Amino acid sequence: MNLAKLYLKDFWALFFPKLCHACGTPLLHQEYLICTSCIYQLPFTNYHLDHENKLVKQFWGKVNVKSASAYLFFSKEGKVQKLMHQLKYNNHPEIGIELGKMYGKVLKSTPKYQNLDAIIPVPLHPDKQRKRGYNQSEQFAIGLSESLGIPVINNILKRIKSSDSQIFMKRESRFLNMRSVFEARHKDSLPLSVLLVDDTITTGATLEACVIALENAGIQDIHIAGIAFAS
Ligand SMILES: [Zn+2]
Repeated sequence: MNLAKLYLKDFWALFFPKLCHACGTPLLHQEYLICTSCIYQLPFTNYHLDHENKLVKQFWGKVNVKSASAYLFFSKEGKVQKLMHQLKYNNHPEIGIELGKMYGKVLKSTPKYQNLDAIIPVPLHPDKQRKRGYNQSEQFAIGLSESLGIPVINNILKRIKSSDSQIFMKRESRFLNMRSVFEARHKDSLPLSVLLVDDTITTGATLEACVIALENAGIQDIHIAGIAFAS
């Protein structure tokens, strides 16, 4: 970058500073997307170190997952909610990538994540993805992939139905309905061990449906990771 361009950039930043996506204060020169103070205050779950965490327990007795963890705790009106809102509704896919990179660095040193073959993001319905322009879970997967050195595979798991139509259903029928939302393609060379990733995990019903579809296709070794867990 030449000097004139550099001045122009600083000049521009003086009037239109980039703001932290979690707290809205102007970012310093070396900061990216989230300010240092917010990163320091993020509510990390550290679930990757706890084999019997609250999230993995949600899947017990329902589907067989090797492990489940989420990077952050989700709370209403908190920093994580702001970040997730920016990621999903304000056209900031780069937040997903950055959080994925950060979490990947954390997971890299944990033994259970060292034999993974692929990362599979929970797919959006094609209509929804077209409207949004990207899949936020896939952005998170891309960041994780960069730090963990494992490829993202997005042509195995497909969302064949939109889940918007089931908002008013009762919990039981919604769960049964969820099971037919996803479909996994049987391929000749399936990965053995996968990390299935989602954005915010609440009841886990979406992930359960994905696990069932992946198992039906022949993948047995399934780990789960989310950006945030709303417990
Ligand atoms: Zn901040």
